Order: sequence, then structure tokens, then C-alpha cells
Amino acid sequence: MTSFDGKSVLVLGGSRGIGAAIVRRFATDGAKVVFTYLSSPDDAEALAAETGSRAVRADSGDRDSLIALIVSLGPLDVLVVNSGILGAGDPLDMPPDVIDRLFRINIHAPYHAAVAAARTMPDGGRIIFIGSANADRMPMTGLAAYSASKAALKGMAKGLARDFGARDITVNVVQPGPTDTDMNPADGPLKDVMHDFMAIKRHATGAEIAGLVAYLAGPEAGIITGAAYNIDGGFAA
Ligand code: NDP
Repeated sequence: MTSFDGKSVLVLGGSRGIGAAIVRRFATDGAKVVFTYLSSPDDAEALAAETGSRAVRADSGDRDSLIALIVSLGPLDVLVVNSGILGAGDPLDMPPDVIDRLFRINIHAPYHAAVAAARTMPDGGRIIFIGSANADRMPMTGLAAYSASKAALKGMAKGLARDFGARDITVNVVQPGPTDTDMNPADGPLKDVMHDFMAIKRHATGAEIAGLVAYLAGPEAGIITGAAYNIDGGFAA
């Protein structure tokens, strides 16, 4: 456990899955946590009540609202951009608007959120993107846009790490492999296919992903920046 007593943490996309596990972890470790949600108000309110955090409805696909929210929250010690959508399908059939929205949520939002947060973030702050092991290995069809969006985060983190390094602000990517959530249930139809690609043949838990996020947000990780870490049971090994 790392102490985040009094630290101000924003988690984009915290109502369910990995994001909810990250909210729980920071709240348990003493942080003042705000998280966003879009379509799951009941889950969001229940999590806020459980953890003493604050839920705010904000679409990561809406750039101006997202930036306005971050400005309104004041200085953040930690920003975690977890909100992301999958959008699987034959690229020949997928409507361009669906792909553009995926890119807005998975690529544009992390960039604009990170820059908005960095304007007032204190020295030593932390920016963490939730990417995917699919940035490094894409062994299935129908996920080109998704894997492209997650690969973009690696370049983004490297560049922003340079931009904010003089202030000791670190920028890193956590890249989960199959993780048990609504997006990718551990008992879903593709579980055996995914486990075939893994050295440790099980889905991760959200809490395992949250543990790496907490490490990167904590004081021991002050020299880690511009990096991407797979936490994937060897999916990308
Ligand atoms: P889920 O679909 O289970 O949960 C997604 C979360 O993001 C929800 O809280 C959802 O909120 C929120 N969200 C989605 N779109 C928006 C939006 N436009 N604005 C605000 N919030 C939004 O996903 P996971 O927990 O599985 O995934 C979390 C992250 O981890 C994603 O970036 C995903 O790509 C990544 N990842 C997941 C893996 C997995 O196997 N599960 C593997 C690798 C990476 P709401 O329901 O309120 O809309």
C-alpha cells in the first residue's frame, strides 16, 4: 500500500471495470478521488458512496467539456486516463463515424486531458494512461483501430514525458492484457483464444492493474517516465 493522503486524483472513466478498481485503490490509500463516467450513473453513484469519492458525468469524447472539467477541478496530483472503448469489427463494414469516435475517446481525450491537467499540476505530478498489450501484439482480426489507438498512447507518453520532465511530472502507460471486466469477461466466448496467447492463462483482475497504477503514481516511481508497461500474463511476450 502507498499513501496518497491528501492527494488529488482524477480518474477518467471510473464507473466500472479497471477504472473502478483504480478508484477503489486510490480511495483506500487516502486520496481525494474524482472520477468520470458516461453511461453508468447507477454504478458511478454506488462506487462514489462506497469509496467516498466524487462521480462526475463527462464524456471523454467531448473535448471542450473534458478540458472545462479539468480546469474546474484545480490542481491534480495524479491524472489517470482509463476511459476507452473497443470497437471491434470488420474494417470494411465499420462506419467511419464509429472509428472517429473511438479515436476521440482513446487518443484525443488522453492528450487534451494530460495537457489541461499539466497546466496546474504541481511538480512531481503523475499522468498515467491505460493503454493495452494490443499496442505491442495484435494477434486477432477486427481490432486495427483499437490497437492503433493504444499504440498512439506510447508515443504520446514519450513526448509528454519530455515536455513535462523539467517539472518532475512523469507520464507513463499501463498496458493490460485480458482483464476481467464488462469489456472482456473472464468467462467470455474468446477466453480460450486469448489464454492461448498467454504464459499465465487467466484474465487479470482490475485490482492487479490498479496496483501497477498505484506504484507508478507513488514516490518510488519518480524516475520512471515515458515508459509503457505490459501487465498481461505474457500476452505480448
Ligand atoms: P469497461 O468497458 O468495462 O469500462 C469502461 C469504463 O470507461 C467505464 O467506467 C465507462 O463508463 C468509461 N467510459 C467509456 N467511454 C467513456 C466516455 N466516452 N466518457 C467517460 N467514460 C467513459 O472497460 P475496461 O474496464 O475493460 O477497460 C478500461 C480501459 O482498459 C480501457 O481503456 C480499455 O481499452 C483498457 N483495456 C482493457 C482490457 C481488458 O481486457 N478489459 C485489456 C487492455 C486494455 P460508463 O459505463 O459510465 O460509460
